[in-house]
Formats: sequence, structure tokens, C-alpha cells
Amino acid sequence: MANILISGAGVAGSALAWWLRRQGFRPTVVERAPGLRDGGYKVDIRGAALEVIDRMGLREQVRRRDTGMRLARFVDVGGRQLATMDAQLFGGREGDDAEIMRGDLARILASATDDVEYVFGDSIATLTPTGDRVEVAFERGKRRTFDLVVGADGLHSTVRRLAFGPESAHLRPLGHHIAIFSVPAELGEEGVELMHPAPGRTVGVYRTAGAAQSRVLFLFPSPADEPDHRDVAGQQALLAEAFGGLGWQVPRLLDAMRDAPDFYLDSMSQVRMDRWSTGRIGLVGDAAYAPSPASGQGTSLGLVGAYVLAAALAEAPGDPVAGLAAYERRMRPFVSLNQQLAERNLKGMVLRSAAQIRFQTLMLRMMPHLPGRERLIRRVTEPIRKAATAITLPGPANARPPGHAGGCVERRG
Ligand SMILES: Cc1cc2nc3c(=O)[nH]c(=O)nc-3n(C[C@H](O)[C@H](O)[C@H](O)COP(=O)(O)OP(=O)(O)OC[C@H]3O[C@@H](n4cnc5c(N)ncnc54)[C@H](O)[C@@H]3O)c2cc1C
Repeated sequence: MANILISGAGVAGSALAWWLRRQGFRPTVVERAPGLRDGGYKVDIRGAALEVIDRMGLREQVRRRDTGMRLARFVDVGGRQLATMDAQLFGGREGDDAEIMRGDLARILASATDDVEYVFGDSIATLTPTGDRVEVAFERGKRRTFDLVVGADGLHSTVRRLAFGPESAHLRPLGHHIAIFSVPAELGEEGVELMHPAPGRTVGVYRTAGAAQSRVLFLFPSPADEPDHRDVAGQQALLAEAFGGLGWQVPRLLDAMRDAPDFYLDSMSQVRMDRWSTGRIGLVGDAAYAPSPASGQGTSLGLVGAYVLAAALAEAPGDPVAGLAAYERRMRPFVSLNQQLAERNLKGMVLRSAAQIRFQTLMLRMMPHLPGRERLIRRVTEPIRKAATAITLPGPANARPPGHAGGCVERRG
């Protein structure tokens, strides 16, 4: 039974651990953070990714944690309603597509892998291929040897840097930054996404039904000089500067960031690579092919990538190099279509001028009365649906193992 090290306990890492166990491998997950990172905003699960959730038997758990979003309400500096938008259209969702807070999904996946060894608070320091194994030195733990190492460690992947070279060679910034964190519940409205568009900047606040806190999302142009992605104080100063002087409840939202346990700020970037593996080291999820939050497909790519990788490794017993190659062949066209969604979406998420905001408001107000309304809606949802379903999952649809209802993840520091 092959020993596989996964770096990163995000959506892709935990989903991969689940599927590797299911295929008879022995995965170990190492996560740099001291515990599961449950920050993030609303994320979508659609198309092939929903099928993966089904095959894991987790659809009901995901449905129970649905965000329950009913409406998006656009507000001006005084908090007055400019326009509203139907939740499905706002999220580009249709049919059974699911929307869930990223942290809720991360927790569901971690609980479903309670039989997997998770090592928190550590990181890979070096990777040394030795014949048909990989020797791994950790920043804190003892040196260990694995049959395969998979980087599921996100946009700033350590595995990618160690095995494929500097981050700058693979990151394609889209020109905007994103920040997300928890704020007091009363700053949001249950089931309603409050959106405040300002020229070049957007603020959104949302509260899931029954949640103790609301979450805020800020989108703004990337600064010329950016603090290190782990310098939280520097990032908070950057955000305060970017949104200083804005009206509505922005000052109160910014005040709340100092106490937020889950403050997250990063560039909206894609990862583009010529190959996702070298020898017995591979990449999955954002580490290999981040589409950026603007695509709305990062979570779905992570889930599908985890499934396809585990299936490809199982189909090539004893030959992970062949498995990694087969995974990449299957995933490439799917990834490419989904990455293409980002730039177009971003244009609608951050409006450049006051004139654009006025035009959008007018369009939204007229929408219910427009004769070609259905056609307009399809123009938004169709490219997303096509990209989300542009892969046929290998293996039988009925792949759920017995007795895998989930429990509690073991945490080791
Ligand atoms: C806190 C957070 C909030 C996010 N919020 C959103 C959002 O609101 N909307 C959206 O579209 N996308 C969001 N994303 C990105 C989104 O999670 C991914 O696009 C998608 O789920 C695929 O996930 P992933 O597992 O590949 O990467 P990620 O979700 O980024 O997970 C990577 C994991 O690897 C860990 N890690 C990083 N470096 C190391 C290391 N050296 N050693 C071990 N572990 C390491 C990270 O701590 C993290 O837990 C967020 C990511 C994070 C980390």
C-alpha cells in the first residue's frame, strides 16, 4: 500500500485524502496552519464537482450547510437600496448547484477523513527524490520517506516552489486583490448578500442562516507594492488604506478586521504551469491550476482534481509517474475552460467608474421587465455550466464506500 504525503489540508488536500483512502492508499496530510483553516466566503459546487460530492456520499451534509442565499441587494453610500438581483443569477447557478461557505465545506471534508493522519503546524522543508521514493524533511517533524508527494498547498504552494522553481514563474495576477474575514453578525443580513459597489472597489457582506457571524469580502486593485502573503499586519494596513474614506458601513467592517481570527488577503491570481508533476511529486487544486476566486470554480477544480488524481493513481498500480501523467491528460482541457471564466467575471465584480455603476443599477432595475430576459440570463450561466461539466469522471457513479459518514478530524501539532 503506497504511502502518500499531501501538503495542505484545504478542499483539494482533504478531498484527495478521502479518495486515496477509498482507493486503498495510505495518505498523510501535513498542514502549515495550527488547525483547519475555515475562513473564506461563499463558494460554488457545480457540474462534475457536485458529482464528486455525490460519489463521496456528502451531498446531504453539503445541502444542510447551504448558504440559503435568496437575494443580492446593491446599496449606495447611505445604505439605500439601488437594485436587487435573484440569488441564482447573481451566483451564475442553476438547478442543483450548491453554494456553501468555504469553511463549512473544509470542515465537512476534514470530518469525513477522520481515519487519515493529519499533522498540523508543520510544513515540508525539502524534497529529495531517491530512486522510487521521495525523502521529505519537515520544518518541525522528523524526516520521513513517501512513495509519492502531492502539493495541495494552494496559491503559494511550497511543493511547487521546491519542485518547479520560483512562484513568479507560475503566478498570473489578474490585477485585483481579495480580502475576506468574519465580522459581527449584525453587519450582515441573513440570506441577503449586501453589495456596495464603488468605482474600482467592491464590498460584499453575507450571513448564512443560523450563523453566529457575518462574512465580509473586499475586492480592490492590486497595489504596486504588496506585503508578504503571511504578513497579516501589513495586509490589514493595505486594506485599510484601499478602503479608507468609503461610506456605507465600511468603517465598521474595517474596524472588525483587527479581531477577526480568519483574516485572509491575497491577490486574485491564476496558476499556469507546463506540467503538474515531476517524477514522484505532483500538484493538485490551486497549487497546480488556481483559476482565481473570480472564476467561481476554484473549489470545483480542487474537488474534481482530487477525484481524477486518485482514480488515475489507482489505475496505474505501482507506477505513480504514469498515474500523474494520466491525471494531467484528463484534467487539462477542463482546467483550461474553467480558468477562462475568470477575466470576464471579474469585469462584472468590480466596476471601474461611477458611470458603470449607474448603468449596472439601471440594467438590474429593468431586468425583470426586459423581453429577452431568459436569453440574457443564459448568456451569463451557459459558459459556467459548459465549463463546469466539461469532463467525464472516470469510474462507476456509485463509488461511495460503506461506513463513511464522517467524524472528527484528529489534530496533531
Ligand atoms: C483561508 C482561505 C480562504 C479562501 N476563500 C476563498 C473564497 O472566499 N472564494 C474562493 O473562490 N476561493 C477562496 N479560497 C481559495 C479556495 O479555497 C481554492 O480556490 C479552492 O478551494 C481549492 O483549494 P485548495 O485546497 O487547492 O487550496 P486552498 O484552499 O488555498 O488550501 C491550501 C491549504 O494548504 C495550506 N498550506 C499552504 N502552504 C502550506 C505548506 N507549506 N505546508 C502545508 N500546508 C500549507 C493552507 O494553509 C491551506 O489550508 C480561499 C483559500 C483560503 C486558504
